Amino acid sequence: MIIAIDGPAASGKGTIARRLAQHYGLAHLDTGLLYRATARVLLDSGLRLDDPARAVAAARGLALTDFEEDKLRGAKMGEAASIVAAIPEVRSALLDMQRKFASRPQGAVLDGRDIGTVICPDATAKLFVTASPEVRAQRRALELRSRGERVDYADVLADIRRRDERDAGRSAAPLVAAADAARLDTTDLDVERAIAAAVAIVERAKR
Ligand code: C5P
Repeated sequence: MIIAIDGPAASGKGTIARRLAQHYGLAHLDTGLLYRATARVLLDSGLRLDDPARAVAAARGLALTDFEEDKLRGAKMGEAASIVAAIPEVRSALLDMQRKFASRPQGAVLDGRDIGTVICPDATAKLFVTASPEVRAQRRALELRSRGERVDYADVLADIRRRDERDAGRSAAPLVAAADAARLDTTDLDVERAIAAAVAIVERAKR
């Protein structure tokens, strides 16, 4: 079974993906890490984020096992990731890795922006997770603070809106719900209710 989860930043899709993977005993890939790691390689080498050739080389050099998640989760890397993610050649370079992960015999859970539309169009279950920008900014600010970052709510909200615009407005695999995705709005849901709703969607899709 392949579960494809898409949605904007801090919508709750990462938590839902992890918990669904636990619930069904499936491997999980947070595909945002691929774009974050690509951006990090460029920044660490003092290179521009919008240079397609360098960005593709960085993407091709990634191995799924060498993510230092802690160094990739910060606000700066999310913004940088959305810049490299808008380069079509970078997306192509990362396609096989994601499809290979999804094709393991027992299946997998993948979360990102284009899983249900591009990476796994034939997924068993597709969820499009949303929440209001204000609630997402609150969650992201809490998360970043718990990681020791000093952040201001207004800056986080501005960052979320800028990323939404870039992710939805790009021509290569823009953030959009697949026609056959079930929408899950987590604005007014706590984590447990969101997970229960997600499991219900997967159970319906499995039938
Ligand atoms: O989900 P996360 O915030 O880690 O993603 C960082 C950025 O990577 C997103 O803003 C988006 O631009 C890009 N991304 C993408 N496609 C994916 C996953 C992430 O374009 N499947």
